[in-house]
Amino acid sequence: MTNSLCALLGSHAATRGDAIALEFGDRLTSFAQLDAQSFAAARALAGVGVLPGQRIGYLGKNSDRYFELLFAASKAGAVMVPIGWRLTAPEIAFLIDDSEISVIFFEPAFLDMVERLAADRTLKCISTEGPIGGVQGYEQWRDGSDMNGGALPPVDVEAPIIQLYTSGTTGRPKGAMLTHCNIFPLRPLCAAENIAWDQWHGDDVSLLTMPVAHIAGTGWGLVAFYNGARSIIMPEFDAGQILDLISSEQISRIFLVPTAIQAVLRHADVVKSDFSRLKYILYGASPIPLGLLREAIDVFGCGFVQNYGMTETCGTVVSLGPEDHDANGGERLAAAGRALPGVELKIVDERLAPVAAGVIGEIMIKSPTTMIGYWKRPEATADALIGGWMRTGDAGYLDQDGYLFVQDRLKDMIISGGENVYPAEVESTLYSHPDVAEVAVIGIPDDRWGEAVTAIVVPANGAVDERELLQWARERLAAYKVPKKVIVRQELPRNPSGKIMRRLLREPFWAGMDRAVN
Ligand code: ATP
Ligand code: MG
Repeated sequence: MTNSLCALLGSHAATRGDAIALEFGDRLTSFAQLDAQSFAAARALAGVGVLPGQRIGYLGKNSDRYFELLFAASKAGAVMVPIGWRLTAPEIAFLIDDSEISVIFFEPAFLDMVERLAADRTLKCISTEGPIGGVQGYEQWRDGSDMNGGALPPVDVEAPIIQLYTSGTTGRPKGAMLTHCNIFPLRPLCAAENIAWDQWHGDDVSLLTMPVAHIAGTGWGLVAFYNGARSIIMPEFDAGQILDLISSEQISRIFLVPTAIQAVLRHADVVKSDFSRLKYILYGASPIPLGLLREAIDVFGCGFVQNYGMTETCGTVVSLGPEDHDANGGERLAAAGRALPGVELKIVDERLAPVAAGVIGEIMIKSPTTMIGYWKRPEATADALIGGWMRTGDAGYLDQDGYLFVQDRLKDMIISGGENVYPAEVESTLYSHPDVAEVAVIGIPDDRWGEAVTAIVVPANGAVDERELLQWARERLAAYKVPKKVIVRQELPRNPSGKIMRRLLREPFWAGMDRAVN
């Protein structure tokens, strides 16, 4: 199989040109059209002066244009930077400046934002739909370029094609540079091992609903593309619409983060939905409470696959397949899975020395999908990439059989009375109580314990009885993990990847104190 994104598109165009690659509302794009249109857009990029290595931005909800532009960038040697539309104006300005974007493609709804951004920087703006506010429309720009028919630079498969910013859960987002070679190397290795859930068939249709500014969205779109499958693209996550699409279309595979699974399960239409065509739900990006996972398996009745990975590893490097969800009454459900073929894992202590099976340490990953580095962050890159291994900042352990159990992020670990407490485990236990809709666990400063384990709870039915909840925790957790305190809130801060921003919850308690809340 070819190792460049554009060559793979060329091969799909040659072998299944008429098959639909992208479905976005009424707009259907076949593989042949995608190839031709992205060639035209690549020439138009050259026409507006975009040189190999230059960054172009995309600001909008999910759309077929984003993928067309990603292919165009890969053909022109440019680097695509998708920008999360849920970010605030200063956060978007930071990403545009940090990545040195010179041309930005924006969805018409973001015209005001883009005009303000362009007012004090050199930024060429192109609408992803029709012309708007004096700005050129996409098709006119793409098809009217003077460069049409002109030559494109040779493809450098070692060069970055996408700069994907990390979710910013533990600090400021960092631009992970991913090359052509980083995108697909695991796919043929998985195929060679006959991993059943990774084998796509002619009738497979994928639903893309997670944001493309994150690896959960872009990565999932590219997996479907690799397999020559049709992707139905939803502009944004919408539980009701997902249920509708799953019931009415041929959707067989979908990737959802745990909060999205929860939202779909809680939607009123779930009882009248038809899940019979759904083969697999893939989930990951943050820990999933066990109770939620069990409920989802029960309700959807399809195969479940957990994915563990990160922006820096171009997505999934560890998977827990459907067979492990069923095995021995689900005793493996707490695991994230095993390394995919081509990936190595090790668990290390603070000196980066490997530890024995069963011992918790930092997870390190060796994978051909690992980024070449963080854009303009040599120190962060040197901290993260060590001798071909990637430090994840996640705590976890491997069991004797090579299953990885992800505990939590090292930065979120609570040290209480000298014991290490991983919030995700406490959250999963509290979540299983019927009065809890959402929960985050953090450490707050405490004279006696150093850090006191504290639960911030969103009640399911208006109220939660603190004493009863703590009793529930005492019956299920070691004493030092049981929260010292419960705080009730109406909602929890989450980033666009659906991850709870524990650092924002910690901040007010640690103001002026030592703990690095970031
Ligand atoms: P930042 O690096 O900016 O702090 P982030 O780490 O949230 O943000 P991503 O690359 O989107 O950015 O997320 C990767 C992280 O998500 C992993 O390092 C891990 O902490 C978490 N994660 C991913 N998959 C799983 C999973 N299956 N179970 C638990 N945690 C997961
Ligand atoms: Mg990270």
